Amino acid sequence: MASLEIKNLHVKVEDQQILNGINLVVPQGQVHAIMGPNGTGKSTLAYTLMGHPRYQIESGEIMLNGQSLIGMAPEERSCLGLFLAFQYPVAIPGVTVANFLRTAINAHRKAKNPEDKGISIPEFRRLLTEKMDFLEMDHAMAGRYLNDGFSGGEKKRVEILQMAMLEPGMAILDETDSGLDIDALRIVAEGINSLKNEHLGILVITHYQRMLNYLKPDVVHVMVDGKILQSGGPELALKLEEEGYEWTKSVEAA
Ligand code: ADP
Ligand code: MG
Repeated sequence: MASLEIKNLHVKVEDQQILNGINLVVPQGQVHAIMGPNGTGKSTLAYTLMGHPRYQIESGEIMLNGQSLIGMAPEERSCLGLFLAFQYPVAIPGVTVANFLRTAINAHRKAKNPEDKGISIPEFRRLLTEKMDFLEMDHAMAGRYLNDGFSGGEKKRVEILQMAMLEPGMAILDETDSGLDIDALRIVAEGINSLKNEHLGILVITHYQRMLNYLKPDVVHVMVDGKILQSGGPELALKLEEEGYEWTKSVEAA
């Protein structure tokens, strides 16, 4: 079955050991959540999966649908169907949301078929309008420069809009719930839910349980100090919300 497989992954950032042997399998069609305190290496894992050059893989393996991603550029990973919604999306003044999305879609189409002439403008407009309406986004947003002066909630919606437009096979959502008020959280989470299908695996990274009420993960993993200490069902997220992370360490020691 198609999946993301992470085996014994050790990662350093600027000579500091951050990930200490991560093992994880996310099959397509499932939602997995990683919860953990701040500074534990969740974003490091997300960036490493996407191929950010700052994160040095010491050892281990990352496979998408049986193919190793190690050494691949982020854009190659993207064309293979991997998607990352950033915790802190960057602004690109001068590039509109619409242009950015059309360029990304066309790059994917070209990677699949070098002869592809790109998505037509009317088809792109139709698709964009449909997805923006679904995420309850103002159409004017498409003409604004990407993330330039966007509020926290607007940035997160644009991340999910990208996901909706690109239709990845494996999506990593890094703290997509942070900075959202309750209404925005519901809209974004429902947007993500509507994208769920048997060909999409989702790895949601969060340190709050609230988004998981909507996303209903199949498996919850607890990450502390660059390691997965426990995995379980959705009840694990509730227990973490009530009791914090300290007890997970004693379970590991036991
Ligand atoms: P989380 O997402 O779980 O809050 P991070 O992966 O962002 O954790 O950070 C894990 C650790 O790695 C922290 O101690 C952080 O300071 C360090 N770290 C992450 N990225 C960098 C970086 N680019 N440069 C230096 N240290 C980093
Ligand atoms: Mg983080």
